[in-house]
Amino acid sequence: MCAAMVLASKGISVTVYEANPKPMPDWRASTFHAPTLELLDRIGVAGPMHEEGLVVPRYQFRDRKVGLVAEYDFSLLADETPFPYRLQLNQQRLVAILFGMLSKMDNVELRFGCRITSIVTDQAGSKFEYQDAADGSMSSVEARFVIAADGARSSVRSLLEIPFDGITYPERFLIISTPVEMGDLIERLAPVNYIADPEEWLFILRTPESWRVLWPVPEGITDDEALSDSQIEAHLQGVAPRSEPYPILDSQIYSVHQRVAERFRQGSTVLVGDAAHINSPVGGVGLNSGIHDAFDITERLARVIIDETDQELELDAFETIRRRVALEYVQADTERNTRRLREKDEVQRAVNIEEMRALAFDLDAQRNYLRRVSLLESFRRFGIGLPVEEAV
Ligand SMILES: Cc1cc2nc3c(=O)[nH]c(=O)nc-3n(C[C@H](O)[C@H](O)[C@H](O)COP(=O)(O)OP(=O)(O)OC[C@H]3O[C@@H](n4cnc5c(N)ncnc54)[C@H](O)[C@@H]3O)c2cc1C
Repeated sequence: MCAAMVLASKGISVTVYEANPKPMPDWRASTFHAPTLELLDRIGVAGPMHEEGLVVPRYQFRDRKVGLVAEYDFSLLADETPFPYRLQLNQQRLVAILFGMLSKMDNVELRFGCRITSIVTDQAGSKFEYQDAADGSMSSVEARFVIAADGARSSVRSLLEIPFDGITYPERFLIISTPVEMGDLIERLAPVNYIADPEEWLFILRTPESWRVLWPVPEGITDDEALSDSQIEAHLQGVAPRSEPYPILDSQIYSVHQRVAERFRQGSTVLVGDAAHINSPVGGVGLNSGIHDAFDITERLARVIIDETDQELELDAFETIRRRVALEYVQADTERNTRRLREKDEVQRAVNIEEMRALAFDLDAQRNYLRRVSLLESFRRFGIGLPVEEAV
């Protein structure tokens, strides 16, 4: 829907085919970083997001045994971005805002309940079939370009037989949302906290509706066991004891992968977002980097359609740059972040704690670190929609 907004706002007709009959209501991602807000501001979405979201300049690295290790402050980026913070807002709110705006645009058609079932593509265009859930009918469509933003289990990626190599973590991640004020239970808790532990690392973060707590579920425990009221209650009491039970608003368990598609384009079809790359949620850059993909490709497609620039050069530049960012930034950083939280070796744990403390004391080092984890570094280095020779 971000890609649709950019294209439509440049006067290009676009149709969104979405398998679900209505906008996805699930919670999922909850963090928007500075460069993503800069992009969303271009399409008028950052304003409504700020009306609902929480502005969070500071976050903490903690250790379950040591306690608070260090606090980092995105305000250090104030001279580089108008949004020097994380905006905490659950993903379904962005989905709802985009859906509302797209519904009012004349050159956008929203086809919800329509699942893509086949696709063929070459440089001249793409032809695909979809099934309409309302009546089960099949239809065929020819499009100049297809942007496949169909998620981690992308049908388009599978239909085009594009390999999706990488790893799956042995543990699953469980995330719950509770209205309990965690800040009253854990001393000096920040709105966003990453907490290392050799047995059960955590992240605890605040969103407008709730606090959200994530922990790993080891192999051997079934999803049903992990999601049972008694298990969730026992875990939360272990994190922050309280006399009353924890009310739960939402819980999700999911497998975590580090995977990047071998190709981000084929013919006139491109992959963006989770269809192209998936990663650990530690650091909150999955959705963010997918939004960057969407803005990058739509700048390029708009140039091809309106200015008749060289399609092959533009699509190749998209693939080169966005695949490189996915591998060198998103995958590398989320893997490092996750390893740091789950480290079992006591010597390495002590080294990690020292490193994270040192970062907080050295403001230049902290600024560089925050540029990296917010994706500002890759955003400024490669730009969005720049020709490949201009992206240094
Ligand atoms: C619990 C959880 C927490 C997360 N937390 C964070 C976070 O804090 N920060 C962050 O940046 N990221 C986070 N993520 C990741 C983030 O949610 C994803 O990166 C993001 O949703 C990817 O967006 P997308 O549009 O690429 O794919 P999706 O959001 O998966 O959307 C794909 C859409 O395609 C539709 N679709 C699928 N197949 C077809 C088809 N054949 N035809 C038509 N439509 C189809 C689906 O119905 C779906 O609506 C989290 C993910 C989870 C599961």
